[in-house]
Amino acid sequence: MIIVLKPQPTPDQIQHVLERIEELGFQPHLSQGVSRTIIGVIGDERKLEATPLQAIDGVEQVIPVLKPFKLASREFRPEPTVIEVKGVRIGGGHLGIIAGPCAIECEESLFGIAEAVRNAGANILRGGAFKPRTSPYSFQGMGEDGLKLLKAAGERFSMPTITEVMDPRQLDLVCEYADMLQIGARNMQNFDLLKEVGRTDKPVMLKRGMSATVKDLLMSAEYIMSQGNHKVILCERGVRSFEDSTRNMMDLSAIPNAQGQSHLPIIADPSHATGRPDLIPAMARASVAAGADGVHIEVHTCPEKALSDGPQALLPDQFAALVDDLRRLADVLGRTVDSCESLTV
Ligand code: PEP
Ligand code: MN
Repeated sequence: MIIVLKPQPTPDQIQHVLERIEELGFQPHLSQGVSRTIIGVIGDERKLEATPLQAIDGVEQVIPVLKPFKLASREFRPEPTVIEVKGVRIGGGHLGIIAGPCAIECEESLFGIAEAVRNAGANILRGGAFKPRTSPYSFQGMGEDGLKLLKAAGERFSMPTITEVMDPRQLDLVCEYADMLQIGARNMQNFDLLKEVGRTDKPVMLKRGMSATVKDLLMSAEYIMSQGNHKVILCERGVRSFEDSTRNMMDLSAIPNAQGQSHLPIIADPSHATGRPDLIPAMARASVAAGADGVHIEVHTCPEKALSDGPQALLPDQFAALVDDLRRLADVLGRTVDSCESLTV
């Protein structure tokens, strides 16, 4: 359930409600919005039925949340969440432009791609060091050496970085090097991993599983948030369908659908959704027009030599033209794209 406090509660009133909830054996989650202060109470609500929470000083209303996800719901936080990573904001009208290679391959190629996407206007650098490949014989990623290169490239080009973590055993290592964590589609329901990333303070981009519903995605976000980390960014990356001319089926409606139910930002990944460079720009533009809080695009300077997902990589020029379009769209729609120029290295 959520407890809505009266406008402008005093710090003592907030503290008192939090303490009371804890005394009752529940975990309170505080959300201080511009206009409202809301406290989420997570746990078996039947135990609270006999407790007159409305009688606590400063409480205006106690509302049961009927949705199975609570902290991720709009009821818990009516205004959109804005997540900031090293000065780059995502959500609430700010677009994240995440770009880079599928996999980190070597210093020369990563730095070349990082420079190109940075010059084109990307504001977050991606690159996989631990790769979830369908075949155990495919390139599995550079591991820690890759993470070191990603961090160095992020510092060199003043960009925050994101990389995938596949296993709780890799988490400390990945947190040492990356600014944001990515949970891949194949791990969207790896609940132990979700709980572990929920105990960190890094922003997490949670990708939709290839056969997951929007509700499943929000339940997985709830897993992360239930552990205290509320910095979750959803990502639509397409779902499996009978269509075999694209890698997946991009579900554009998932974007406003998730936003209607949740305050969390949602990014679109047309690279994995379509698997086709000829379709990626159109779907990226459509996503932003549909309300996406950013895009996630794979770029490579030499796709034919890429060790992973080469066929879907955009060339730097194609990516730069796309970012120009997205910036113009953002202007028309009254949204902004933070550049990382203001970052202090
Ligand atoms: C990726 O981002 O490189 C990736 C493996 O994506 P997904 O988990 O969406 O397949
Ligand atoms: Mn990829």
